Amino acid sequence: MPGHRFYAPSESFTAADARLPADEAHHAVHVLRVRVGEAVNVFDGQGRAFRAIVAEASKRGVRLALAEPLPSNESPLELTLAVAILKADKFEWVIQKAVELGVARVIPLMTRHVEPGLVRGVSADRLARWARISREATKQCGRSRLTPIAAPRPVSDLLAEEGVKLFFAERGGQDLARVVEKVVRKTDAPPPMTAFVGPEGGWSDAEREQALASGARLVTLGPRILRAETAGILAVGLLQLAFGDFVTAATTAPERPENRHDS
Ligand code: SAM
Repeated sequence: MPGHRFYAPSESFTAADARLPADEAHHAVHVLRVRVGEAVNVFDGQGRAFRAIVAEASKRGVRLALAEPLPSNESPLELTLAVAILKADKFEWVIQKAVELGVARVIPLMTRHVEPGLVRGVSADRLARWARISREATKQCGRSRLTPIAAPRPVSDLLAEEGVKLFFAERGGQDLARVVEKVVRKTDAPPPMTAFVGPEGGWSDAEREQALASGARLVTLGPRILRAETAGILAVGLLQLAFGDFVTAATTAPERPENRHDS
């Protein structure tokens, strides 16, 4: 079974092969010590992945000969996680877990109660680090689509946009089960949606009011106040359960006698 997974941007693919970018090639040659003839996987960050054979591996670079395409494990739910900027280690944790759980993108939010120092800390270097964390998580969980981590945006801007907006509120929201019933499915595919999660200091009254006025649904995650990172990851997991791919075809397949375990 091919073990190593590599990323190469779609423009470095031809119909027959893919060339790894410099950092991936360096890692492949000097850390993983791949050999010509070795079987690996490669993905293009836009949803395509292949089995491949190492055709060249040297200081000049790594070229992979493409074999068959691999099936996608991307969720049918296009979920944006819009989460307030948190302390560096917590935000990185959220990025890693959210990517593993299949979100389409993460948007760091500037809100009334996000400390100004945290916003100032989002430098170009920090954004590059977040992109690396997202890419490593993508590799680890076998996804083939990269999850962009956007530059920070004011929550008011995002609330002004159209679409299904679920505003996770530490107080006063509706049960997620009721909200799920109300999110009308016009087709079999779930609508794209954005989950909003506030900062450690919580949402301001004005933000809650803007959310309601914008047509967002206020949603509760139960009677306990959760850390923002817990709330973010729980929200993603529950939305994947409700609209995404946590329920497999095997689970929903008609019952077969051999699968029955009646006591
Ligand atoms: N400091 C606030 C307080 O004491 O009320 C708590 C804010 S909480 C740590 C951070 C964010 O996580 C909230 O703004 C909300 O988005 C989300 N959150 C936490 N607990 C939640 C719950 N029980 N239901 C829904 N969202 C929750």
